[in-house]
Amino acid sequence: MANSVEDYREHLSTLDEAGNRKWIYPKKPKGKYHTWRAIVAVLLLTFLFGAPFIKINGNPLLQFDVIERKFSILGNMFFPQDFHIFMFAMIVGIIFIGVFTLIFGRIFCGWVCPQTIFMEMIFRKIEYFIEGDWTKQKQLNRAPWTASKIFKKTAKHLIFFIISFFISNIFLAYVIGSDDLLKIMSEPPSQHIVGLIAIIIFSFLFYGVFAFMREQVCTNICPYGRLQSVLLDKYSIVVAYDHKRGESRGKFRKNEDRATVNKGDCIDCKQCINVCPTGIDIRNGTQLECVNCTACIDVCDDMMANVGLPGGLIRYASEHNIETGSKFKFTKRLMGFSTLLIVLTVIFIALLTVRGKLEATIMRTPGMLYSEPIEGKYSNLYNYSIANKTSNLLSVQFKLESTGGTVQMIGQQNLNLDREQITEGSFFIHLDKNTVTSSENTVVIGVYAGDEKVQEVSTSFLGPK
Ligand code: SF4
Ligand code: SF4
Repeated sequence: MANSVEDYREHLSTLDEAGNRKWIYPKKPKGKYHTWRAIVAVLLLTFLFGAPFIKINGNPLLQFDVIERKFSILGNMFFPQDFHIFMFAMIVGIIFIGVFTLIFGRIFCGWVCPQTIFMEMIFRKIEYFIEGDWTKQKQLNRAPWTASKIFKKTAKHLIFFIISFFISNIFLAYVIGSDDLLKIMSEPPSQHIVGLIAIIIFSFLFYGVFAFMREQVCTNICPYGRLQSVLLDKYSIVVAYDHKRGESRGKFRKNEDRATVNKGDCIDCKQCINVCPTGIDIRNGTQLECVNCTACIDVCDDMMANVGLPGGLIRYASEHNIETGSKFKFTKRLMGFSTLLIVLTVIFIALLTVRGKLEATIMRTPGMLYSEPIEGKYSNLYNYSIANKTSNLLSVQFKLESTGGTVQMIGQQNLNLDREQITEGSFFIHLDKNTVTSSENTVVIGVYAGDEKVQEVSTSFLGPK
């Protein structure tokens, strides 16, 4: 029998004995934790839907334009030249996840993950509204195709697709920016075929995930759940069943003294299984399928209140807490991770602080030797790439910091870079022959925004042997 103490290790809770998908019908959750999760979900969804549309200094609050390789975080633009900062941010992020999971288990999945929030707080709620609670949903699925069933199923899937289409638009706004998204929406479709195809593909993808795949994403696809086995230890806080207090489980009988008949506080009502969106029995211990949604805490507290027993039989606790009745402990492993996290965060902030307005890359043109186009001078050709990281127009100049030479731009003489513009080009450096003392010399080029020197680049200058 599925979910029994004996066989839960043998197969996934979402598969039957034949290996076929078992559709999960979770009972509608309610309770203190669910209310708090709903409040958090509203705040996070407001942020998620608003972030690409809120502008700071003319830039989106958040944008991840992987196509143009431009990223906006809190209105600050980041370019490929800032790759090192992103690498650091990723390392800090991974360590943060590690430390956070070590302390709080998979709490992120239940409270913050967009997959859980969309599934449990939007799509599942619509399903409850149209098809009713879990038992009614089961009945409806088994019932023949009547007009009422066709209407309910069509309405549900139509609404699911419309919401998926909406999410897809928001998702695209994070990539291409809200201005370009509004253009796609307002201009003739023929002008934005690629954008429209992307929106339609992502709409079907989101619809497929929320209408059909559901908990399979958390249990089989998401790598974070699988990481639990290496990140959790006996001190990690997880949604846990207090087996010391709950066992031996046994049905509730009125006026029975449970202690005298060797019964623990678990009344074996199975409501914690019925309410679980991943179909597991938390009484079997921490399992990778648990997304920490807290629905079992709420329902168990409710059952305990009904039979006059104290709540908290299922609660946030570590294995160590339950075994010993002790409080949270700051372990050596945790201390090590936290120190590393603090050091990396400080380095990350330092990198952000020293990040300049301009980022210039200057390299001698490959394969070119020196030339003598001007009497008494040697010349080398250089290529440059320069990115304006600010929201203002910048007038940029290259100046030779070493003496005895000049910079001669090729093509455009005045470099006026628009906000966030990246431009490339070439220039000559002409050096007086008497300053070129060897076949390979070093020159220092100053990069100026107006009168302010914002960067110095050292590069080589070839002369005769
Ligand atoms: S809801 Fe609580 S009392 Fe009911 S079976 Fe689960 S752990 Fe036991
Ligand atoms: S075991 Fe409890 S917290 Fe974990 S997914 Fe199931 S209902 Fe949610």
